[in-house]
Amino acid sequence: MSEQRQPGLQIDILTLFPDMFRPVTEESMLGRAGEKGILDIRLHDIRDYTLDKHNRTDDYPFGGGGGMVMMPDPVFRCLEDIGAAGRRLLYMSPRGRVLDGKMIREYAGEERLVILCGHYEGVDQRILDHWGAEEVSIGDYILTGGELPAMVLIDAVARLIPGVLGNADSAMNESVYSGLLEHPQYTQPRLYRDLSVPEVLLSGNHRQIDLWRYRQSLELTARRRPDLLAAYAAEYREKLPKEEQRILEEILTGR
Ligand code: SAM
Repeated sequence: MSEQRQPGLQIDILTLFPDMFRPVTEESMLGRAGEKGILDIRLHDIRDYTLDKHNRTDDYPFGGGGGMVMMPDPVFRCLEDIGAAGRRLLYMSPRGRVLDGKMIREYAGEERLVILCGHYEGVDQRILDHWGAEEVSIGDYILTGGELPAMVLIDAVARLIPGVLGNADSAMNESVYSGLLEHPQYTQPRLYRDLSVPEVLLSGNHRQIDLWRYRQSLELTARRRPDLLAAYAAEYREKLPKEEQRILEEILTGR
């Protein structure tokens, strides 16, 4: 990996439903990263920053229309309290730029991220304007709240922080980050019912295995993501070892 940096990322999450995060942030890879001090996820309940006795966080939209909008005051006060000024603030939003590997790599290079999760019809625009929030979408569909999108983002970012995954290289070898889709994987048993494993993987010949996997990756990428293959070829065509170059040419020319 070329983009190594000192481990450690603090992520502050502003949400109305902090408990939604706990099963994800306290278990598995994210939980271990937290224990090791590599990832410091801080949950902030927006409701704790309300001043009225009903703890209201939303109100009707000016100008009419259905649904409710999250009010500025509790969010402003929360952002002030956690010292978010000057920090990168992401607002999970279907209007945002659609999340991809490049954005994830960029976020993984930050020391601190602040993530705002919307609910109802979203948040008062003055929050986004005043705090310079970047809107980030996880796809062209609507979810009920920003919590699940935030979890998607955090999981993907965490995998790129050195020390989070067991093997430092494994994140960059995976589909998309490597520039290609990953080759098929097989495990025990060698024969399951009448389904066998490709012979080459049992051969012990690592060069042949690498070439087989490379060809499989190229074929899969050509079929499913010709856009990725074109970008990969433009970047690596001239830089590959001879045999890999020959395989790439075969796939590109369909021979
Ligand atoms: N009225 C909003 C609109 O049309 O853009 C949608 C509001 S949505 C029901 C409630 C919240 O869920 C949003 O404020 C946002 O935080 C989150 N959300 C929903 N879909 C999302 C997506 N595809 N990507 C990121 N966040 C999303």
